[in-house]
Amino acid sequence: MPDKATIYDDLEVPTVINATGTKTRISGSLMREEAADAMRDASRSFVRISDLQQRASELVAEATSADAGYVTSGASAALSMAAAACLSGDDLEVMARLPDTEGVADEIVMPRTHRNGYDHALRLPGATIVDIGTNDHHLGTGSENVEPWEIEAAITNDTAAIAYMEKPYTQPPLETVCEIAHDHDVPVIVDAAAELPPAENLSRFVEQGADLVAFSGGKAIRGPQSTGILAGDEELIRSVACQHLDMHAADAVYDPPADLITTDELPGVPRQGIGRSMKVGKEEIVGLIRALELFLKEDHGDCLRKWNERAEHLAAGLADITGLETQLEGGDKTDAVAQVVATVDSDRAATDATRLVESLRRETPRVFVGADRLDAEEFTVNPMCLTDEEADYVVDRIRATLS
Ligand SMILES: *Cc1c(COP(=O)(O)O)cnc(C)c1O
Repeated sequence: MPDKATIYDDLEVPTVINATGTKTRISGSLMREEAADAMRDASRSFVRISDLQQRASELVAEATSADAGYVTSGASAALSMAAAACLSGDDLEVMARLPDTEGVADEIVMPRTHRNGYDHALRLPGATIVDIGTNDHHLGTGSENVEPWEIEAAITNDTAAIAYMEKPYTQPPLETVCEIAHDHDVPVIVDAAAELPPAENLSRFVEQGADLVAFSGGKAIRGPQSTGILAGDEELIRSVACQHLDMHAADAVYDPPADLITTDELPGVPRQGIGRSMKVGKEEIVGLIRALELFLKEDHGDCLRKWNERAEHLAAGLADITGLETQLEGGDKTDAVAQVVATVDSDRAATDATRLVESLRRETPRVFVGADRLDAEEFTVNPMCLTDEEADYVVDRIRATLS
């Protein structure tokens, strides 16, 4: 790799060549230059954060076709704030004592097959997840994992929300779940953190009936890593704002922006809420707004074409390495971006898949390939976060390690 001096050299921290896609632990995606510029501009003036969040709310609402929006410190924080809003609504007393939920409807119903490591975020403000359905999809019984009637049956007076993880394969359809929930006056929270592109998804889940939808600002939108978007119902977003903004001010001069917080609905000034530990700075809010504007204007077809061409180029580069079988996967409807799946035959190559992955990670710069399938002697090479030059470098390093 040609030596480009970076701030990480000054800090003596090794950089990473990312051939595994947008993963938080290796810093997600590269922020758009224009978003970084906007953050620098934002850092030069003071602003009332509630005024800025109100403007962000309008812009997120426009982008998502929701009534309102809010910028959070990540999709995970968006889920925590969504759950907090569903637990407390406009009740200042409940806001002030979360995560203590005694006497509050605090159950979040969730199909078992939607549960994932990030649902801890839903429990953070004190909710309990009630998971339903079965994990059975191997017995050939035609089981659908979770049936709509099971969701309906799980709703009780203790239900605060239904949570839904949006993936191309999740069942039952979101519209069905929203219909059941709304029949019982229960809101639906959707985790759509990584479901962009396509850009249409920004509005799709709201249009299908979701009350609150969480997106990551640091994945395909390429805003600051520590940002997310929550889009949805105006009253619930108002509750989010009350529990997130630092508003603990003298009652006599309390004057929050009227479109974000309606003071008539509140008996007093909200205290520091559960969201106070998930604060978002002006720089992050502005950076996210700028990145979102650019994401909306982007030619997503063109990006996909470039990624898929790069995946083919990677596959061709790896094709003649002894002891390595490669194939392209994805590039279709369910998985828009193609990536290379490589199988190591350790009898013919110099090492096995696990040791290859380990050794690449220890290089300077570190080289990260996808390591989710090592038990099948497979690793993956993803084109999304590589330049063409880095793609060739990754192929060279894999070849050198296996030979
Ligand atoms: C990435 C991801 C999150 C977390 O997003 P952050 O913006 O990093 O907080 C939550 N849920 C799912 C399904 C994700 O893929």
